[in-house]
Amino acid sequence: MAARIKNVSLLSQILIAFILAILAGIIFGPDIAVIQPLGDLFLRLIQFIIVPLIVSSLIAGVASTGSMETLGRIGGKTILYYVCTTFVAVTIGLIAASLFSPGTGVDISTSREVPDVTETDGVISILLNIIPTNPIESLSSGDILQIIFFAIFVGIGITMVGQKAEPVYRFFDGFAEIMYKITWMIMKLIPIGVFGLLAPIIGEYGLSVLMPLIKLISIVAVACIIHALVTYSIAVKAFANMNPFRFFKGIAPASLVAFSTQSSSGTLPVTIKCSEDNLGVSKKISSFVLPLGATINMDGTSLYLSIAALFTAQAYGVELSIIQILTIVLIGTLGSIGTAGVPGAGLVMLTLVLTTLNLPLEAIALIAGVDRFMDMFRTAVNITGDASGTVVINATERNLDEKDHTSDG
Ligand code: ASP
Repeated sequence: MAARIKNVSLLSQILIAFILAILAGIIFGPDIAVIQPLGDLFLRLIQFIIVPLIVSSLIAGVASTGSMETLGRIGGKTILYYVCTTFVAVTIGLIAASLFSPGTGVDISTSREVPDVTETDGVISILLNIIPTNPIESLSSGDILQIIFFAIFVGIGITMVGQKAEPVYRFFDGFAEIMYKITWMIMKLIPIGVFGLLAPIIGEYGLSVLMPLIKLISIVAVACIIHALVTYSIAVKAFANMNPFRFFKGIAPASLVAFSTQSSSGTLPVTIKCSEDNLGVSKKISSFVLPLGATINMDGTSLYLSIAALFTAQAYGVELSIIQILTIVLIGTLGSIGTAGVPGAGLVMLTLVLTTLNLPLEAIALIAGVDRFMDMFRTAVNITGDASGTVVINATERNLDEKDHTSDG
């Protein structure tokens, strides 16, 4: 039996777990919560490697670029790619919400209790907060943006110092290898994790809770799928000449983990593994582009923010001016950059968007009840977008290398 399971590919195992989770949730209802510890076990396992993985892989990744010139080029391209795709995602969200008006006719009085999410940082303090005043504290509290800032600078330092810093580079490079090995072991447990996380959610919420807001959820889900299928297919085909089918198949295990955990940061080890093993991305690129992407690149979240903002305006009968629509584009993009890669972070960011637009925060209460389901789709898209970024950057760097070799020879 065990040998037979071993022969089934990991992707098929995850898909089977996925379907079983939905069935178990529907059949057993809230009672299925007894299997939650299986999900928690998996969550804890992936959480425990995040900080050491990010630190070691990012320091080694940045340092392995070899020169400041290469580093600047890769960094510049990465950020440009991420901002462009986020912009496309916000636009798709706006078009979808305008076409299908999910908020029109919504009965606001059905609001649930307003969650305590009214405290959000302004954009400036979000940006300032990226700089850690004490990196050790950031490491112990797991503040990913601050950790990324610290690791990038250590990597830059190693590159600038050169030979004398070589032992430090080798240490982090070796440490990153150890983390990859641990990740590989944890990957084997993904099907159990997916089942343990998904079944209790379906069991608790049931499909009926979705009904009043089914239109909103469907529009977010469909827009997410359209963005992923169209934007990433075009990107990987045009820039990396990769068959989109190969891309989606290769990244599918990570997308399904993101769907089940609703955490980009939590999925990072799996995203790195899939990009390297299935999509042929070099370690040098994936270890730099993916941790950055898991934190600042959230296409699904930006798309959700724009749809949720329009939903709120429609539900309260507020006509938005063109300036307000442009504000949604700007704040949706910036807000998604500032969103942490953890479950529900996009909902917190929505308060910033609604406040900026002067829209009633009560809408958050309405959305909160079903946010989890939208979080599944947006997180899956978030990490798929990160992976498309690594494929694209990897291909453009490889082309440059090939050109160098040709001109050398
Ligand atoms: N859960 C999302 C992520 O981890 C963030 C969000 O809530 O939109 O990528």
